[in-house]
Amino acid sequence: MTKSFVLIYGDARLPYQVQEDPARSTRIAIHVEPDGTVMVDAPLGYTDEVVQHAVQKRARWITANVTDAMQRFANVRPREYVSGEQVLYLGRRYLLKVVIAAKPSKSARLRGNRLEVESRTGDPDDIKGRVRGWYRSKARDYLAQRLDMLSARLTWVDTTPPFKLLEMTRQWGSCSPSGRIILNPHLIKAPRASVDYVIIHELAHLIHHNHGREFFRVLDREVPDWNNHKQVLDGMVEQLMNE
Ligand SMILES: [Zn+2]
Repeated sequence: MTKSFVLIYGDARLPYQVQEDPARSTRIAIHVEPDGTVMVDAPLGYTDEVVQHAVQKRARWITANVTDAMQRFANVRPREYVSGEQVLYLGRRYLLKVVIAAKPSKSARLRGNRLEVESRTGDPDDIKGRVRGWYRSKARDYLAQRLDMLSARLTWVDTTPPFKLLEMTRQWGSCSPSGRIILNPHLIKAPRASVDYVIIHELAHLIHHNHGREFFRVLDREVPDWNNHKQVLDGMVEQLMNE
């Protein structure tokens, strides 16, 4: 059952929806969706007062996140691939710099706070191809390296599972029943901690193939603040997937 309430904080009136979640035992979870919608998951049997009190206690955090989400949503525009545009890499913003060169070097490179891309013509399609190629090779290297490191750390993983990159629009990763991991190359734009969360999430599926209690017990143990990382990813989804 879903109930609707309104959070009042200063001048803000923020509607939110509360869903009872039987799988949840002790905590109330508050999510701000990419478009600024506020959703609350509550364990079964919590009274309206308890839920409203918990939401009110986090009013400042919620309001700030809703404002951010709405601004981000409004700011996401199609990329133009021109100098001065922002590019994301491992959670940091860099400025794209297009360098016209007679013999452009094939790969882009990071220099200070800039991503330099050489091009003979400066044509946006050419730049786009070079930026994509750079992301792709960074994603392949970095994700493979983190998958190795985390596989070695987690006790239930014997050897690093096979993995491949696949661009997906609404999913960061997946784990097949046979244990093959798929990771979204757009992850290379997300903060390092969020990347690790996604990889550990998928590695946990090697022992628990669904999102049941046991799965979340493992996730809670290995990444106690996983919900923060998930919220970061949810909040950035429009930007991360934007090309
Ligand atoms: Zn999953």
